Amino acid sequence: MANYFTYLCTDCGKIYDATEVRYLCPDCSAAQNPEMPPKGVLKVQYDYTAIKTAYPTFSELKSRGFIDILPIKSLSSFPRLSVGETPLYTYYKEELFPFAVALKDDSHNPTFSFKDRASALVSAFAKENGLNTLVAASTGNAGSSLAGMCASNEQKAIIMVPEKAPLAKLTQILMYGAKLVPVKGTYDDAFDLSIKATEAYGWYNRNTAFNPLTIEGKKTVSFEIYEQMQGQLPDFIFVPTGDGVIISGVYKGFEDLLQLGIISKIPILVMVQSEGSDNLVQNISREHFEIKPSNTIADSISVDIPRNFYMAKQFLLKYNGQTLCVSDDEILEASKVLSKKTGIFSEPAAATAFAGCMKYHQNGRIDSDQKALVLLTGSGLKDLKSVQGIIEMPTSVESDLEQLNNYLQ
Ligand SMILES: *Cc1c(COP(=O)(O)O)cnc(C)c1O
Repeated sequence: MANYFTYLCTDCGKIYDATEVRYLCPDCSAAQNPEMPPKGVLKVQYDYTAIKTAYPTFSELKSRGFIDILPIKSLSSFPRLSVGETPLYTYYKEELFPFAVALKDDSHNPTFSFKDRASALVSAFAKENGLNTLVAASTGNAGSSLAGMCASNEQKAIIMVPEKAPLAKLTQILMYGAKLVPVKGTYDDAFDLSIKATEAYGWYNRNTAFNPLTIEGKKTVSFEIYEQMQGQLPDFIFVPTGDGVIISGVYKGFEDLLQLGIISKIPILVMVQSEGSDNLVQNISREHFEIKPSNTIADSISVDIPRNFYMAKQFLLKYNGQTLCVSDDEILEASKVLSKKTGIFSEPAAATAFAGCMKYHQNGRIDSDQKALVLLTGSGLKDLKSVQGIIEMPTSVESDLEQLNNYLQ
């Protein structure tokens, strides 16, 4: 059953055989307006009835490594590095908040961000299809992730980044041996160049919401949440959002479980954006898409044109998702609280989700008998500069007890 899938265009509803197309819906993407989010992002679909008959329970699917609901032939195509299966920490009522909260820490992935879930699947698909050179345009994490996965899977990676990506992420890309191409201009300029290069050189492109497998890789987090919470899904899941691929991936994972009759209801997903980069949240209710240039410390979710806008909006409306924006100050505060109270040091984009949960608490939007989950998508070590303003490096003392005594006063 593995590897039988089709693509559904989320805009026009057309269905494509998986051998027919690789990226966007050819019809919907034919006349793209560069000032608008792209149309024609594809969604992977399986023969749910057949899968349900063959493997009626979650544990049967799990025991087969979910291969029946992944668009690849064999689990052995994945990079050797262990992706996913990240820890979920449960805090009972009153431990962190007046309600129970679970933290899913995806900084435990090999390149320290959630992006590995997508890169691993893209790398596996490339391996099965004889595609040896992979390219991605990225603000940092997707690129460092693809570089790491390719290093692990004997593939060549070419990573195009806007010039100002954080140093740690650029360093990772170089250390993993990828070809790093800083592109003058913004992420959108890097994105455009990577697509032109894909066409010109026949590389395989991992760009988010361009390659439909990015969503498919990201959905695995929902299977883990279901398993780690023993089927007792939370009432709210806070998801940090830029392009809207992670949140669509989370929805897609739950939707698969819904189609397979494993769950009967999808939790309320709360899309959290930075006030400085809120083009997805703000445009959901607008008739005409308007772009506000983004400016936020949370570089991983700093996005002018959300690449997966239409699909994310569709999911959110279909499953009654909610939206919320938090300021850079709230993100920094959340980052501090999270680090101090849990020992999890997250990058600003990830702390954005925790800031969203704190704000929901402050606004009394979560009852004491409800449960929340916060998706922590990346490590704080990836961007040390952004927190410099909220810490103070102490000066040194002589190795002398008296001096230490004064120092401690
Ligand atoms: C990419 C990323 C996000 C946002 O994901 P989108 O799919 O762009 O919405 C959030 N946090 C981190 C750490 C990321 O790298």
